[in-house]
Amino acid sequence: MIESHPFKLSNLHQRLRQRKQQSIFVAKMYYELGKTIKCERMLNCSNEFYISKVEEESGLKFYSVNSWSQCKQRHCPMCQLLKSFKLRALLKKSILIESNYLLLTLTIKNCELSELRKTTELMSEGWSKFWKSAKNDCFIGYLRSLEISVDQEGKGHPHYHILLQTEENYFKEKYKPNTWFSDRWKYSLNLDYTPITWISKVKGNGLMECTKYITKPSAYCNGKILEILDKELDGIHSYSRGGKMKVKQEDLDKIERGEKFESQERQGKPDFKIEWKTNSWNVKQWQLPE
Ligand SMILES: [Zn+2]
Repeated sequence: MIESHPFKLSNLHQRLRQRKQQSIFVAKMYYELGKTIKCERMLNCSNEFYISKVEEESGLKFYSVNSWSQCKQRHCPMCQLLKSFKLRALLKKSILIESNYLLLTLTIKNCELSELRKTTELMSEGWSKFWKSAKNDCFIGYLRSLEISVDQEGKGHPHYHILLQTEENYFKEKYKPNTWFSDRWKYSLNLDYTPITWISKVKGNGLMECTKYITKPSAYCNGKILEILDKELDGIHSYSRGGKMKVKQEDLDKIERGEKFESQERQGKPDFKIEWKTNSWNVKQWQLPE
């Protein structure tokens, strides 16, 4: 065990530590709900990682998680972080940097948690309608992610984060203000109020930053909420894509199911291994044996 390993000072170490602690917190909720299998699986989620030291052509050095075994449960904070790593890798491989992208957030009024399934189904239908008209209006592809947070009154706040690919002349000739999106979203959902929407331009590295918004960890304040979310969101898909977005739906499905895809295998030999012990990551080996 090497206590003073430089990895301990890294951003990645911090994030893995925080998520592991959050996962243990959620696992305890499952235990209190009597769902011991879910609890056990989450407690055993990602107890070890192989880590690689990466140096990019630009000289940028960072640590990267190389392989792991995860519990694959929707509400596991560690699995959610791993999803964002995978999505980032997928976007890096697939996205055309020279294209223009927008990050669009579409919301709807908060609903009772027991109405989440109905509400997300409505949003999904609304999005189909929205996209049907948007694709004829200078947008050429999308990657959509469903996020659900819970407000202080215990109501659900389902919303979409959407990476929208635009035609080349969009910002010069066809730019649409935020009101265009909120009006179109209102119409698509047949609402009697104007929903809140946000739009911002993303390019280059900013595109990778989107994965942060697309897979933010959910907050579960108590077991009761977790139990309803479990029931309401069972089988609801988080990601979808459309148009010319160069990301395959099957890869998104793999990410959703917690499966690995090939880019993960391509990172070469890991440099060392870390193991979770009580409340900390221990670095086990500097160098793996040949
Ligand atoms: Zn997990």
